[in-house]
Amino acid sequence: PDVPVGSLLAGAARRYGERVAFRHADEEITFRGLWELACRFANALRQHGVGRGDTVALHLPNCLAFPVAYYGTLLSGATFSPVNPLLPPRPLAGQLTDSGASVVVTHGSVAEALRHSDIELLITVRSGAPGALDFDRFVAEAPATRPAVDLTPGTDLAHLGYTGGTTGRSKGVRLTHRNVVVNALQYTCWSSGSVPALDGTGDVTVDQIGDEHEWPVRLGTGATLTLTPWFHAMGLGGLNMGVLSGTSVTIHERLDPRAYVTDAERLRVTSLSGAPALFAALLRCEDFHTADLSSVRSLSSGAAPMPRVVADALRARFPGVVITEGYGLTEATMGITTGPTWRSGTRKAGTVGVPIFDTEVRIVPSGGDPEWDALPPGTPGEVCARGPQVMGGYHGRDDETAAVLDRGWLRTGDIGVFDDEGYLSIVDRKKDLLLYKGYNVYPRELEELLLAVPGVASAAVVGRPAPDVGELPVAFVVRAPRSGDGSGDSSGGVTAEAVLAAVNEQVPPYKRLREIHFVDAIPVSGAGKVLKRQLRERLG
Ligand code: ATP
Repeated sequence: PDVPVGSLLAGAARRYGERVAFRHADEEITFRGLWELACRFANALRQHGVGRGDTVALHLPNCLAFPVAYYGTLLSGATFSPVNPLLPPRPLAGQLTDSGASVVVTHGSVAEALRHSDIELLITVRSGAPGALDFDRFVAEAPATRPAVDLTPGTDLAHLGYTGGTTGRSKGVRLTHRNVVVNALQYTCWSSGSVPALDGTGDVTVDQIGDEHEWPVRLGTGATLTLTPWFHAMGLGGLNMGVLSGTSVTIHERLDPRAYVTDAERLRVTSLSGAPALFAALLRCEDFHTADLSSVRSLSSGAAPMPRVVADALRARFPGVVITEGYGLTEATMGITTGPTWRSGTRKAGTVGVPIFDTEVRIVPSGGDPEWDALPPGTPGEVCARGPQVMGGYHGRDDETAAVLDRGWLRTGDIGVFDDEGYLSIVDRKKDLLLYKGYNVYPRELEELLLAVPGVASAAVVGRPAPDVGELPVAFVVRAPRSGDGSGDSSGGVTAEAVLAAVNEQVPPYKRLREIHFVDAIPVSGAGKVLKRQLRERLG
């Protein structure tokens, strides 16, 4: 259905009405309640002259005000621009200027960081910044009717989201209402075995088909926890999928594995989802192994590669449960592939599944033409994708847009390979690839081997530039607190020599690791991605 994003929530409010949509600590909001508050927020924006053509930035941690302001912004006709609430003041000011946001919604806990920003209208959740409007009062004073706004889903901007900035400067990505609605439908229909439908008023819903027991997501009955930040593409995709499928979502602000497990058990959650770093942390928590999590019907991972050791441990913890790994990027709204979820047997470990509905994926040699130069199965190359979720371009960066978009094809910057049955594996990021004497060295392959060494808790591989030969693979390693067999104190733990020997005997000479640096932690972004730039800087 070609409708604006607000129609996802309108349909959910009618269909799931009094079910809890979101819960945070001891507060909760139903689907109908969320719809009413979002309409009020939209009308309040309009009373302040904000609407189509304006940009509203959300500088918020995950909280109940987030979905209100998100859907409210979109219902007003304005464009929503998410901001990482942990950005320091100067990059924050830079992003706000780049996005052209005239309105910022912030939170008492992070508002201080806005001191270098120039903002026309500032609204604060919890304790006001000077000159700011109080969020609750802003919302309460406006009517709860849906504002009449004429939007064209295929061209009107819904999101101006920013890429993670993992590999370079963060860029604004222009996504229309159609991009956002389509991607939420693609994934929801896939995991719940439903078809998109319109209700009597033309708002979008989904209808379950077939035997509901085969599908991990059952409409209007699911419960989950979220840690994935909503300022990130994967978090936002999850937000819209939760609304479409009528899932009750409980917000966890920070990763506290014991609190997470306690809530998962108490709330009888039906799905667990997040970046691989979440699952790795849960597996290290004793309670995760003893709690009654028999209500869980699916596990889904994305945003970063899932290490094989983590996937294997999850399969052992949840026999028979569907585990999926999706792959995507901000430039494709959220996602382009996923592991088939409806029959656990068809999911292939180590792959990110197959292209989602209406999406074409081709593997192309460096500099090749996605239209004509597709590589056969088994040959790695750059992943290129075309589909209705692919962005129109970067905001104000025509040159960078031209470098990645070509007749609808998006060059993802990731290296992938198809197998004979059409399952995609992500080999590595193009930018992380190392070149040694003309040979390609994929850090991810070495990281998988490192993680399998007893005594290694986490690891990341980067290149040290070396004259004449290119780059030498160097590993940063976090030691496990106990020895690999669980027999007790490891006093000192695994040595660099042992790690080098274990990895290097499994690879040809040109791939051999040259150095091991033991560290307390591997730096990761809010979305759970390893920040290799920071590691390279440490090499000096
Ligand atoms: P920037 O492009 O600014 O450096 P970023 O790449 O972190 O930031 P995002 O859109 O947040 O921007 O992340 C998308 C990237 O995450 C993908 O290009 C891919 O490298 C990685 N990714 C996502 N899902 C997976 C997955 N399942 N397996 C491996 N990598 C993944």
